[in-house]
Amino acid sequence: MFKIGLRSNCISRAFLTKSSIRKFSASKLEGKIALITGAASGIGKETAKKFINNGAKVVIADIQTKLGKETATELGTHASFISCDVSKESDIAHAVDYAVSNYGQLDIMFNNAGIACHTPPTIVDLDLAAFDRVMSINVRGVVAGIKHASRVMIPQGHGSILCTSSITGVLGGLAQHTYSISKSTVVGVMKSAAAELCRYGIRINCISPFAIPTPFVIEEMRVYFPGVDDQGLAKMIHDNGVLRGAICEPEDIANAALYLASDDAKYVSGHNLVVDGGFTSIKNLSFPVSNEFES
Ligand code: NAD
Repeated sequence: MFKIGLRSNCISRAFLTKSSIRKFSASKLEGKIALITGAASGIGKETAKKFINNGAKVVIADIQTKLGKETATELGTHASFISCDVSKESDIAHAVDYAVSNYGQLDIMFNNAGIACHTPPTIVDLDLAAFDRVMSINVRGVVAGIKHASRVMIPQGHGSILCTSSITGVLGGLAQHTYSISKSTVVGVMKSAAAELCRYGIRINCISPFAIPTPFVIEEMRVYFPGVDDQGLAKMIHDNGVLRGAICEPEDIANAALYLASDDAKYVSGHNLVVDGGFTSIKNLSFPVSNEFES
């Protein structure tokens, strides 16, 4: 690495040394193997890219086979794809076994796949079939991911597990009950698992993102605001952020995931890292609550 720098004849030696050191220290996941569910698009895909750029090999596990394969191809030889429906325990078990048999270990498990579902907004009319469907992916899928990652991480004696929750799990009224309940439950699941997994050297944490206009969010918003195009919907989402001069993007969540997955967070476990620019700290919110979404 230093040799390459010294061979260059247009940049000073001192600069190259510093930049080489920077490059080296930026590889926070050198040699690590990660499995990310829901990584065909959005937050999962951005995190896969970030992990690979930091030296990891990443298994992309997603229910969208065509898009998942395209994503793996786009991300290069350090990415591979496995078809996986997180609501099926056998699919999760298979994805974990695939990672171990192909790469020899599993260092990072990111339980990120999640959905929302259209249901009547009031608790009185709650559609319990929709509730079961959301819970089967957003909660049961996470529990299955933790279970099977732990199965291989406990004998290894180390590992980092991440789960995607949401600001809708921190505050009520930001989304429909099904989604909010599922995301607050994810934090409870994480805490429960953290209490046991610490004795095996395994860390587990959550990330709770602010709203980001990824495909599933845009799809949801289209139902409530049919006259608004995708760009307008994305703007509506960003306009509800409270941190002046910034918007919440998939890379912000990928950065949080990189921190939690890496040794930078070697003593952090049982934590819910809220990435919301301060949104959930403010008393008077302008964000439309779930009942207001109803046309
Ligand atoms: P996205 O639509 O870009 O990605 C979701 C991915 O999950 C898709 O690739 C989809 O195919 C996959 N998926 C859905 N059901 C699956 C299943 N049963 N098995 C395997 N994969 C499945 O959306 P995103 O915003 O990147 O969502 C990622 C996570 O972030 C979700 O858990 C979501 O709830 C959470 N989240 C998103 C936001 C946001 O505003 N975008 C905010 C907070 C939390």
